[in-house]
Amino acid sequence: MTCFICKGRTRNGFSTFTTDMGNCIIIIKNVPSQICAQCGEVSYDAGVARRLEQIADAVRRSALTEIAVVNYTERAA
Ligand SMILES: [Zn+2]
Repeated sequence: MTCFICKGRTRNGFSTFTTDMGNCIIIIKNVPSQICAQCGEVSYDAGVARRLEQIADAVRRSALTEIAVVNYTERAA
């Protein structure tokens, strides 16, 4: 893939995705990502992005804490 910001080369890796859902902040670790070698921009393929939305939604509905930390690899199965 090519970075959509700087057009640099991306490599496969893992990153941490953080989203603020209003009532809670959700941190999803070990997300498979494309990481730009040049500027460090992180992007996800369509399947991963969809899964992140599903995980965030499920966590938001069940979260009792203001900050929830989940592991992508455990949730993606
Ligand atoms: Zn870049």
